Amino acid sequence: MPSKPDLAEIVATVGRDMQQHLGGGKVADYIPALARVDARRFGLAVITCDGEAHETGDAWMPFSIQSISKVFTLTLALERHGEDLWKRVGREPSGSRFNSIVQLEHERGVPRNPFINAGAIVVTDALLAGRPPAEGIAEIRDFMRMLSGVDTIDVDPEVAKSEAATGFRNYSLANFMRGFDNMTSVEETLQTYFQQCSLRITCRQLARAGLFLANGGTDPISGAYVTTPERARRIAAVMMTCGHYDASGEFAFHVGLPGKSGVGGGILAIVPGRAAIAVWSPGLDEAGTSYVGARALEQLVKLAGWSVF
Ligand code: GLU
Repeated sequence: MPSKPDLAEIVATVGRDMQQHLGGGKVADYIPALARVDARRFGLAVITCDGEAHETGDAWMPFSIQSISKVFTLTLALERHGEDLWKRVGREPSGSRFNSIVQLEHERGVPRNPFINAGAIVVTDALLAGRPPAEGIAEIRDFMRMLSGVDTIDVDPEVAKSEAATGFRNYSLANFMRGFDNMTSVEETLQTYFQQCSLRITCRQLARAGLFLANGGTDPISGAYVTTPERARRIAAVMMTCGHYDASGEFAFHVGLPGKSGVGGGILAIVPGRAAIAVWSPGLDEAGTSYVGARALEQLVKLAGWSVF
């Protein structure tokens, strides 16, 4: 059994060592509210299954959750539909960009996995199950509040409005899938999807919210049931293989943990049986994963000996 890593020391070291990289990558600029975030921000939070918590930098600062929300909607949709959900969405890495439409034509409207946009939109449609968007987003928001223990988590209305105003590709994906009978309500689903991407969350809250995935589907601190052990394991498997779009292999190679990135610059990573880590820095690499965030995770995992490989 390896000795217990000194997490306080490791988190402080990573915080110090990342200073030289701050400002690296390119901040998402498809909407103004994301484009104006300071590229030099950096936050990191770790929480272990036995409740030890450490953080550094801007771990207290809210950022746009974006595609990391897809992990939580997948959890909710699996609770609602069970295995049937997998008839509508696959679980293979796509090797394509996050908003690619090409594969959908070949694969008859069934997206490769729940973490590319098409797949996440199907998952949100399944979760909504004919309900109005206000009910769907309330369920997702309340889930995040329950998991993090913070009842101020909410949608940023400016981001949600811009997402809707610029979401032409997401509309195309949803309509295309509608054409293959894999989408019930395009408009309601997208309104919910744009809002789930616009939730504001801090590293501290996100690490806490993801902790059930490190602990077989049950929150190790509150003891609350979130999902079954089998589903928690499978969600983590899809995070490992598909969590970073067409750079998922790179992330597994360098970090070696199940993870999910978002274009807001956040990454949630799971250390099975041990901990959840959230990191945030807005500059992105070419595939849309936080440039400094991925570096920070690589160093942390190395120092803690936490890679699953
Ligand atoms: N709101 C973005 C979109 O759907 C999310 C993309 C991401 O975080 O990767 O286009």
